[in-house]
Amino acid sequence: MTQSAPTGTRKYGGAHKALRRRLLAALEREPGQPCARCGGPMYPWQLLDLDHYEDGSTWRGLAHRSCNRRAGQQQTTVINRARNAWRRHGTPAAPWPSARRW
Ligand SMILES: [Zn+2]
Repeated sequence: MTQSAPTGTRKYGGAHKALRRRLLAALEREPGQPCARCGGPMYPWQLLDLDHYEDGSTWRGLAHRSCNRRAGQQQTTVINRARNAWRRHGTPAAPWPSARRW
């Protein structure tokens, strides 16, 4: 299941929260819906995230928090690797998405 959002919406705006609440309510009524990441059943008492595509324009749907965070971690690793490669090749500093301050 895919939820679409108007382009240009911020990743974690009010729409995100409203949709998450709506999907969680649906899960309360119908527990065991498949996780957007692993396809395993989800239940209201589990820690769940509203997962989004990397460009932030579309939501995948609910996913287990562990599944979603693992995917986010992989993304960070890719960014860090690219950043290190830039350093090694002496590319001048450029604006780069950073998850933390150095
Ligand atoms: Zn999962």
